Amino acid sequence: MLKICTHCACPEGQLHELFCAEERCPFCGQLLVSCGCMPKVLMLTAQEQYAINAYSDDELEPLKSIKARWRQALNDKGRVPFS
Ligand SMILES: [Zn+2]
Ligand SMILES: [Zn+2]
Repeated sequence: MLKICTHCACPEGQLHELFCAEERCPFCGQLLVSCGCMPKVLMLTAQEQYAINAYSDDELEPLKSIKARWRQALNDKGRVPFS
């Protein structure tokens, strides 16, 4: 029987919706939402790190562009399909 992600409803073998709670990080294999790779991979500046902690709306700058860079880095590395 085909498994379906309980968070984003993607079928087994397909990519999750980006930033789905079940998506695994291609850099460390941990859950993407809780792993600590993003600041390291993107080499965020202290200001950017501060912005991530201080702001919550990722549809607005500066989070929007940080998120876009992270998405690009994940795509370049190769995102992990649901399994
Ligand atoms: Zn999912
Ligand atoms: Zn990671």
